[in-house]
Parts: sequence; structure tokens; C-alpha cells
Amino acid sequence: MTVTKGELLAEGKAKAVYATNDAAVLWLHSLDQATALNGKQKAEITDKGRLTTQISQLLFQYLNNQGLQTHFIEALGETDMLVKKLQMLPVEVVIRNYAAGHFATRYNVPMLQPLTPIVQEYYYKNDALDDPALNQSQIFALNLATPAQIAFMDEQALKINDLLQQLFAQIGIQFIDFKIEFGVDGTGMLMLGDELSPDNMRLIDIETGASLDKDVFRQGTGDLREGYRIVLQRLAEKLGE
Ligand code: C5P
Repeated sequence: MTVTKGELLAEGKAKAVYATNDAAVLWLHSLDQATALNGKQKAEITDKGRLTTQISQLLFQYLNNQGLQTHFIEALGETDMLVKKLQMLPVEVVIRNYAAGHFATRYNVPMLQPLTPIVQEYYYKNDALDDPALNQSQIFALNLATPAQIAFMDEQALKINDLLQQLFAQIGIQFIDFKIEFGVDGTGMLMLGDELSPDNMRLIDIETGASLDKDVFRQGTGDLREGYRIVLQRLAEKLGE
């Protein structure tokens, strides 16, 4: 069956979500928008949608090829993709290999200090509350996910971290931290959803020390597209696109 685009279901901070003629499939379109501070800092950045989509397509395809179940079905050109429709859990999972961002400021640790063990955090995906931090008992008491779902997400998050850390190391990039989200498909299966791009991860060029992710926008230190283009070019070369 050829999938065709249906009605607009939702427009988020960085992408638009459309229904398709297949009830189990969604059509995602990335917008040329960057936001930070939970949407309080916002800008239109031409070409950003193409960069985040293409990076996301390559990373999801890579994880699928490594045997991981994700929502990614196929790339549709440079700014769109087809994904499985998921009921997203309102829990963001953050993994940190090195101190940065909120971890560095909250605990007053030097930037890029290696973290042993790897740090795992959860946040409540709730804009009105500013995405507060959660621990496991809070997640269960609030019925945001079950213990089995959290155990699965933890295991998947560490696996994804290993795979991405290895991949980025091969293209000269230090993988600092990232945020992922999971959802349940129509058959009840929990899997990785959302997106995988420098909007949601911190990446540093090992040779130059340059930040290749959204920190450039958050901190107003330059044009984020320069870093995103480097990430895309190296991933495309490595993964044979
Ligand atoms: O800001 P913080 O240090 O907690 O971010 C940790 C990681 O999670 C970073 O890679 C950041 O890009 C990502 N993140 C995200 N969406 C959020 C918060 C953090 O993608 N709402």
C-alpha cells in the first residue's frame, strides 16, 4: 500500500505530525525551527529541518540495522519520514557520559568530566511544569510508566548509548549526553520514538573541541547549522549514504 499524507495531527516545537491512510503509521515533517528553554527561546533557521531529519533518518536506520526496535519505517526525502504510530510515555530518559548542561551546573562539576557510572535521569514531559526531574518511585506513583517499562527503557537507553558512542567515536565525535523518548505501538510493544539529532544530544568534535549540537543556539555562540552539517556529512560518509 502506498502511504499518503493525511490531516495535520499536531505541530510541536520542531516538527509537524500528520496522519496517513494507514492508521498505524504517521508522517513526520521537520520544521525549520529551533527552540530552547522549553520554547522560551525560539528562532526560524532555514535548512535546519533538513539537517535534523537526515541525521535522525541515518541514526534510526543504524539502530534498526543493529537489531533495535524503533518507530522508524522509512525516509521520505530530506525533511520527512514515516514512523510507527506510538502512544508516547510522558517520560524523557537522559543518559550522560560526561558532565555538561544542567548536570554540570546543578552539581557544580567541571564540564566534560567523565561520569562513572554513566548517569541516567528521567524527566516528566510536561511543558506547563517545565519538565521536572523524576525518580523511579515518582514515575510509578504518578502512573507515568510501569516498573517493567522503566526496566526496558533503561536497558534500551544503555544499549543505544553504547551503539551511538561507538558510531560517533569512529567519526571523530565525542558523545556527551542525550535525551530519548519511548512509546507503545498498536500491538503493545514499547520502542524508541521521537527523534535522534543534535537537537537532543551533545556532540563535540574531538579534534577541535567545537560543539556540534544545539548548545551553539542555546548559548548564542554561532550558527548551529555549521555543526549539524559536519555531523550529517560524517554520518553519511560512514553509513554509506
Ligand atoms: O539540559 P540538560 O543538560 O539536562 O540536557 C541533557 C541532554 O538532553 C542534552 O543532550 C539535551 O540536548 C537533551 N534534552 C532534550 N530535551 C529537553 C532537555 C534536554 O533533548 N527537553
